[in-house]
This record gives sequence, structure tokens and C-alpha cells, in this order.
Amino acid sequence: MALPPLAWNHYSLYLHVPFCRAICTFCTFERTQYSKSSMDAFFDALLDEVDLREQSDDFTQATLDSIYLGGGTASLLSNEQISQFLGRLRSGFGLHDDIECTLECEPGTKREDDFREVRDAGVNRVSIGVQSFSDQLLPALNRRHTVATSYRTIEAAHNAGFSNIHIDLMYGLPNQTLADWKFSVNEAIRLGIQHVSVYRLIIFQDELLARKLGQGELQPPADAGTIEEMRRYALETLPANGLRQYSLTEFAKPGNECIYVQRNWDGSDYLGFGPAAYSRHAHHLWENTVFHHRYHELTDDHRLPVGKGITMTPHECLARDVAMGLCLLSVDIAHVERQSGASLDEIFGRKIAQLVDDGLLRRTRDRIYLTDEGLLYATYIMKRFTA
Ligand code: SF4
Repeated sequence: MALPPLAWNHYSLYLHVPFCRAICTFCTFERTQYSKSSMDAFFDALLDEVDLREQSDDFTQATLDSIYLGGGTASLLSNEQISQFLGRLRSGFGLHDDIECTLECEPGTKREDDFREVRDAGVNRVSIGVQSFSDQLLPALNRRHTVATSYRTIEAAHNAGFSNIHIDLMYGLPNQTLADWKFSVNEAIRLGIQHVSVYRLIIFQDELLARKLGQGELQPPADAGTIEEMRRYALETLPANGLRQYSLTEFAKPGNECIYVQRNWDGSDYLGFGPAAYSRHAHHLWENTVFHHRYHELTDDHRLPVGKGITMTPHECLARDVAMGLCLLSVDIAHVERQSGASLDEIFGRKIAQLVDDGLLRRTRDRIYLTDEGLLYATYIMKRFTA
């Protein structure tokens, strides 16, 4: 996809590090097995991509609002590589001190000294993939870590001075009981974690997890009623303990809401680096090639590694921004109209009225909100805008 040179203003930046130590049985992300040599080769290509992007676009008015080092497993980057990457962004990309900078971290991949080093390099938020505080549930996911490793990693980040720590927790896991789930939620609270994401395990056909379940190697997840109880428990318990829900899956203490998550879903611009990374600039959306060999070929050939993309019409842009915006539980009508250049009422007035009648949305003069009932049917509601 050929894009015109783009002038960046306020934007967020995402780095996709496409390697993991072990492949989780439920994973649908773009990643492959880690080796130091492939990581080092990737990092060289990444720096080429950064150079190419700087040459291609206009960053003279650019201000970075947030950075997210994700993947894959971003914490498999060495401390030096993290420091070098962030240092590179300081010249030419509008990176200033004190913006939110998150490092996604697999438990056990960084120790206290590492956390101190990456903190000195500019990382100020750590996202730790705990998934569960019950040891017996982790092997079914093919996680390499144990619960003890999660505790150690959280403590190490805390001791290194991180005061904005995020953990992921999953429910609906094979063998998981309601008591297991309650224990995990309560551990997050007891540990004083500032930001918690709760995800329901979705089992896709052809995944390793689906095959293991099909072959009877694992106990199936709990029944739908118990899974709904798990969801409700998190929804009630986390806010009751100071972690306000601000998206479909995110809960945070006041002031610890993730800026990157909010910018991603409210239709702001973001620039992705690395294989399979997504980017958005105004009405342009694109994805870098997902193929590692192609990523290397293109960057070696001094070409941006863009795989595919579209330029959205105002209608498409509005549909996307309303659907994605609802991930943040409500949508600012003036904001999405300004970004898309389209009128919400002209395009979606009847649909919204119907969803309000059905009790799934609530509308005020300025915003549309998911209702409690709407939270249960969020995917269906989003599809009503994008289908
Ligand atoms: S650590 Fe994350 S990206 Fe890597 S395999 Fe597991 S779920 Fe996928």
C-alpha cells in the first residue's frame, strides 16, 4: 500500500516485538519462538524501519503522547535495546520526558536491576502477564512462569520504583473454579496493583488449546453460568476496591488509566513498528507485513515494511470510531464526528435509537454509553456499526 507522506501531530507509538519464550495455547497474536540471534536481527531491521519512517513522514510538529512496548514479549529485548530504541525516538519523533511508556513483561524475564535500568531509559509503566494466581491453571496455557515468579516480578518492579504496575488476569480457563478466580482478583487487590485487565479466555478452532480440549487432555472451562459469575465478581469487586472500570476489560486506580489504551480506542493516531504492527493516521489504517522474512527484505531494500491498508471513507471512519470507542464504555459524539467528517445522526441515528430502545445503549446530548446490559453484548453492538 502506497501512502502519501504523513504529517504527525499528537500520536502514540506501538512496538511489536514478535518473539516469545514459549507459545501460549490460546494465543492468536503474531509471534514466533525467541532466540537471541533472531531478536538481534529483528532489532537491526527495526532501527532501519525507524529511519525509513522518519525519512518518509513529517515529524516537525509531532508530540508523542504514549509509547507501548508490546508483542509477543517485549521484555525479551535486552535493557540496552530498550534504551537504544527509546533514545532513537528522542531525536525526530517528538518524545519528551515523562510521557507514559509501558513495557509488557512476561513474569521472570526482568529482575529488579533490569527494571531499574529500563526505568532510567524512560519506561515508567510495567504490564505483567500474570494471567492467574493459581499454579495448577498455568500449564494448560503453556505459560513458562509459576505464580511465585509472578510475585517476584511484581515485587521487583515495585522495588525498582514503578508505581504504575498493570497485570492481566484471565477467567474461563480449563479447570478454573469460581474460587480460583476470586482468589486471583483478590490477590491483585491485596498486592495494591494499580491497573488490572480481565479477559475471558476465548477458544478459537485450530488453536492448540482447542485441540487439547478436543482430545480430552484438559478439563473444559466452567459452564456459561459460572463464567458469568466470574465476570460479575470482577466487575463488582475491583471497583469496590478502588479500581474503576474504564473499558470493557480495564480497571484502574484514579490517574492510572492507560493513556495508550485510551488513545488506541478513541480514534487518535498511532504509529506501529515491527512485523504485524498496526498504524493509524487520520483516515489511513495500515498493518506492517506479518511475515518476518518479508519485514527483513523490505527494510534491507530501504522500503517501509507495510503489508496492507485502507483509506477509510468518512462513513467507515465514523463506524470504526464508534465501535472502537465503545470499548471505552462511552463515545464522545462531537469527537467522532470531527475525526470522521461525518454526521452520527445521519448515518447511525436509527440504529442508535433501536439500540437505546433495546436497552443496550443510553444516549445523552453529548455521548452514547453502553448500559449494564450492553456490556454483555458489546461485540454484537459493535458489529451493528461496522457490519
Ligand atoms: S506471551 Fe503473549 S504473545 Fe506470547 S504466546 Fe503468550 S499470549 Fe501469545
